[in-house]
Amino acid sequence: MKVTDYIKNANETLFSFEIIPPLKGKGIENLYEGIDPLMEFNPPFINVTYHREEFIYKNMGDGLLKKISIKKRPGTVGICAAIMHKYKVDAIPHLICGGFNLEDTENALIDLQFLGVDNILALRGDPIKSESVFTPSSGGHHYASELIGQISKMNEGKYLDDERQNAPTNFCIGAAGYPEKHFEAMNLNSDMKHLKEKVDAGAEFIVTQMFYDNAKYFDFVDKCRTVGIDVPIIPGLKPITTLKHTTFLPKFFHIDLPETLSNELEKCKTNADVRKVGIEWGIEQAKELKSKGAPVLHFYTMNKSTAVKEIASAVF
Ligand code: FAD
Repeated sequence: MKVTDYIKNANETLFSFEIIPPLKGKGIENLYEGIDPLMEFNPPFINVTYHREEFIYKNMGDGLLKKISIKKRPGTVGICAAIMHKYKVDAIPHLICGGFNLEDTENALIDLQFLGVDNILALRGDPIKSESVFTPSSGGHHYASELIGQISKMNEGKYLDDERQNAPTNFCIGAAGYPEKHFEAMNLNSDMKHLKEKVDAGAEFIVTQMFYDNAKYFDFVDKCRTVGIDVPIIPGLKPITTLKHTTFLPKFFHIDLPETLSNELEKCKTNADVRKVGIEWGIEQAKELKSKGAPVLHFYTMNKSTAVKEIASAVF
């Protein structure tokens, strides 16, 4: 079922979460161990991230280095199929522009349609480690709005080979939104303009980057409504549970921690101290978002369920 229909049919805020495929060579059992404890909160859908290739240099001896492409976390599509089969919920694969040309994208979408996937989260992807700026594949999309445009066309039966009448796909498309702006955007308004382009191209729901200050989410929703973005905006939440998170999350995701929270975190000496503060903060955030009518609370689990479960237990 489509995310938009789940939201339309719900009388209250829904719970959902995101997982990441295991590192290559690791089994799927660990993933299930992270999902199982969260199923009691009846997630209608589970998101599965996509991780593109990276380049490493292998020492071949004699001073020679060979550039090798590796995918550390393959398996997004297989995991979606496994989740749908095992838990009877919708799985939402993330699909990115990076590493795909238009035909790769079309073929990936055909596979997903055959699997019975109803929703796609369409993203550009970050630059890979060896690039300072995002570089599209030869013949690939530069921006998520273009990828969304391609999916929308397939939803109308317009494939790349336009000569024939093709069976329309029926994907509900999601896009990413950034309450604190995307790190490359010149300012929040220009980012907002490009977010509107994604909605105009066919995005029917938005999932936000994680944030720790609810006021930023509420402002973001207001700004979206002002520029004519009227699709559901799903807040993304990530519990802070380790000392490392306090520097890693702002650096990696380009987000700020509010001062009240950072003051409390600075007093923490151990991971256990941080976890306590992080979970209390997460519960307050989630309670307020729910009470003010957020359509879904979407948790970034990074495959760890215990903190998310504590927050969800206090709220759902
Ligand atoms: P875009 O919407 O294409 O925007 C990228 C930048 O370009 C923004 O600064 C935007 O303002 C600007 N821009 C857009 N259009 C134009 C234009 N026409 N002209 C000039 N500038 C423009 N990454 C992964 O690799 N795999 C994942 O599974 C994944 N999941 C994610 C899930 C969520 C909910 C979120 C929030 C992010 C996720 N990401 C994932 C990260 C995402 O790929 C990066 O944040 C990426 O840098 C931007 O993706 P986007 O889809 O927002 O890009």
